[in-house]
Amino acid sequence: MILKFLGTRGYIEEKNKKHKRHSCLLITYRKKKLLIDWGLDWRGRLNSINPDWILITHAHPDHAFGLKEGTPKAVYAASSTYKFLREFALPNLEKIKKNIPFKLGPFKISAYSVIHSIKAPTVGFRITAAGKTLAYNPDLVFIKNRRKIFKDLDLYIGDGSSVSRPMVRRKENKLFGHTSVKTQINWCKKFKIQEAIFTHFGKEAIGMGEKKLEKKLDEFSGGELKVAAAYDGMKKNLC
Ligand SMILES: [Zn+2]
Ligand SMILES: [Zn+2]
Repeated sequence: MILKFLGTRGYIEEKNKKHKRHSCLLITYRKKKLLIDWGLDWRGRLNSINPDWILITHAHPDHAFGLKEGTPKAVYAASSTYKFLREFALPNLEKIKKNIPFKLGPFKISAYSVIHSIKAPTVGFRITAAGKTLAYNPDLVFIKNRRKIFKDLDLYIGDGSSVSRPMVRRKENKLFGHTSVKTQINWCKKFKIQEAIFTHFGKEAIGMGEKKLEKKLDEFSGGELKVAAAYDGMKKNLC
């Protein structure tokens, strides 16, 4: 399957050539196209991508508000994201159940809860095609059931909002925000995942520039796994 990181920027003002647009991922396999997320600055551009299906992780503007004008395309979301998206003109909006795998064409998909936002409950997606499995987590503080989610994972795609300093806050005992790239690489090491790619970059990563960022990723991985920083338009063949 071919992955294309259409956008790799988080919900921040800063941008540069490599991280210009909000994070979303296009996965193509056997001529079928699965799109994950469609944030605000992608508005009006959906026809140029022409996906068969759209999955939405959560109802934050940088992940869902590109759908504001509506689309006849099939859009899939879990629980509260589904409820929120009913305000948009989406005649083919489908509700998905968490932790129950389902199929869309050649893709086997499972949505699982991740801790990220109190107001906009968030899921990550585990997707299998062509005998390979990836997990997509553009925004997260934590995944509770990592043993299950990370089992036999070929590629972890994670949240680049913070490189080394986690941006995690607490309200009434609930955590929200973003954990660091460093922490996510440590999860990958713990669960023996061989490859990770980061997207959804924030101020820290965009401020340090690509070279410094790559150096940091190498330092965190310590040679135990392959780690890369995605950029807008980056393609990856996972086979
Ligand atoms: Zn985001
Ligand atoms: Zn978010």
